[in-house]
Amino acid sequence: MTTDRDPKSILREVFGYGEFRGLQECIVEHVCGGGDALVLMPTGGGKSLCYQIPALVRDGVAVVVSPLIALMQDQVAALREAGVRAAAVNSSLPPAQAWRVIGEMTAGRLDLVYVAPERLVTDGFLESLGRAKVALFAIDEAHCVSQWGHDFRPEYRGLGVLAERFPGVPRIALTATADAPTRGEIIEQLGLTGAAVFVAGFDRPNIRYEVVDKIDARRQLGAFLASRHDGESGIVYCMSRRKVDQTAEWLATRGIQALPYHAGLDNSVRSANQQRFLREDGVVMVATIAFGMGIDKPDVRFVAHLDLPKSLEAYYQETGRAGRDGLPADAWMCYGYGDVVAIRGLVERSESPPERKRVENLKLNALLGYCESGECRRAVLLRYFGEQHAGGCGNCDTCLNPVDCYDGTVVAQKALSNIYRTGQRFGAAYLAAVLTGADDPKVTSNGHDMVSTFGIGGELDTREWTSVYRQLVAGGLVEVEIEHGGLRLAPQAWPVLREGQQVRLRRERKIERVAGRKKTPKGRSIDAVLGAEPDRDLFAALKARRLELARARGVPPYVIFHDRTLVEMAAVKPATLGLMACIGGVGEKKLEAYGEIFLGVIREFR
Ligand code: ADP
Ligand code: ZN
Repeated sequence: MTTDRDPKSILREVFGYGEFRGLQECIVEHVCGGGDALVLMPTGGGKSLCYQIPALVRDGVAVVVSPLIALMQDQVAALREAGVRAAAVNSSLPPAQAWRVIGEMTAGRLDLVYVAPERLVTDGFLESLGRAKVALFAIDEAHCVSQWGHDFRPEYRGLGVLAERFPGVPRIALTATADAPTRGEIIEQLGLTGAAVFVAGFDRPNIRYEVVDKIDARRQLGAFLASRHDGESGIVYCMSRRKVDQTAEWLATRGIQALPYHAGLDNSVRSANQQRFLREDGVVMVATIAFGMGIDKPDVRFVAHLDLPKSLEAYYQETGRAGRDGLPADAWMCYGYGDVVAIRGLVERSESPPERKRVENLKLNALLGYCESGECRRAVLLRYFGEQHAGGCGNCDTCLNPVDCYDGTVVAQKALSNIYRTGQRFGAAYLAAVLTGADDPKVTSNGHDMVSTFGIGGELDTREWTSVYRQLVAGGLVEVEIEHGGLRLAPQAWPVLREGQQVRLRRERKIERVAGRKKTPKGRSIDAVLGAEPDRDLFAALKARRLELARARGVPPYVIFHDRTLVEMAAVKPATLGLMACIGGVGEKKLEAYGEIFLGVIREFR
């Protein structure tokens, strides 16, 4: 362990990084000086170092509260790899072993101890802490204290006791959930009124946001994976358990290592699947939203949504699991007419009291607004979280491939009037058939080949009309009848029909045909940052070596080195241990343990 206790040297020698990122330096300084802090930083922003470095600078043991046992173990393993004296106390530990850790802690032989909240607040543990020298308390995933939030953990409410029992010890609460009510609740519940609040920007510049028009979701997903994420790991979110199972199976038949994860699976299956996702390279987790809280895996290269998320907050949270390592990652969503109809119906049917329903509708409008937007997706997202962004991010679908928005007033009038003429009870496919004048026996038998809107929509094809109806439903001009999914006019439709109030529509992009048998060229997003072919091979070789080492030690690969570190090795190709030490993420301990091994791999590619 290093004896130099200045934060900058610890950053360099223990963690192998040259510079602090963003607010890290201020936060570290503040906490080292004994101040309380509330840190709001996006996923991947680098929250851990904000308490890990003060833990090494300050005298005594740092106590880290973390809600997920499965992940504590990996965090502890990663710290130990870096030569830090860390341990965890939780219910998965046999009592004798837990007491041994507590003994080490009180004897001053630990730098960090990770503990589950319910354990921390027991009399026994608090009493042991009273005998130890405590450097600081770090409360990770602090939003779990919020009763209104998505991850409420009643045990977090007990943590207020720390302020009373350890008045002189600095406390730092950290979270990626930033809305104002949650923030207020954290401060109140944890007794952090005097704390400095650090708010980092919420942008995740390395994530590319994209929404594609749903035609055949599974095939589109298959093409997306093959062309951009061959052999990489990621998460696919689906709404239902059944769809999770089916999608995972289908991907598996296409040679992709896909595993299901949802609440209906046996506990043991679920945790085995999660372990494989964390420990192996290139596993795709197909999951309901039950999966992901606190997933620390840094190299998730994509998050794909086959169904709409619950809200824009949920979407940001879920997509935020991609690219924590700062390397390019994709947030890809497949969205179509059926999704809008289903979700509008869901809110309609909800039996919430009117006030709550109003909020549900606002949230839903924000979500659909995001999907339908012709604007920079990043600007729309950040604005929703109260942050200004000028747009033109250059890393979302609408920036890279601008959407053609047009004055769709006449088109909308035709579509609306068609709903009216056919009696306000049919879905989009039928309505499109009438507009395009299709020779469809159902249309004829209903006599709808005689209505005035029959065949007046020749300027668009069926898919384009469906898109128009989707946009009208998303925009609230058309309502969905729940039982049969028929469309009817909303009050807002009349100003368009009667007074020609303007409607802006987006033209659907021409779809690359999602061919059944045709092979999609293989590709990986990570390749964009690697240059020539030999580097890719070297990167693959470095990864393979890392996997062997990780298997032998029973830890996830990223505990050895992050992808980012291997990417840099593959690009720089250091020839000596001295040069190897300059690679980001190679601290003293790791240089000693793995330097020669990876130099050996690099040598083969010189
Ligand atoms: P968070 O907990 O905020 O989601 P982490 O603490 O896991 O984020 O950090 C995300 C990634 O960024 C990790 O791979 C971490 O090693 C890396 N990282 C953090 N701080 C720095 C830094 N100053 N320089 C380089 N990489 C960093
Ligand atoms: Zn953009």
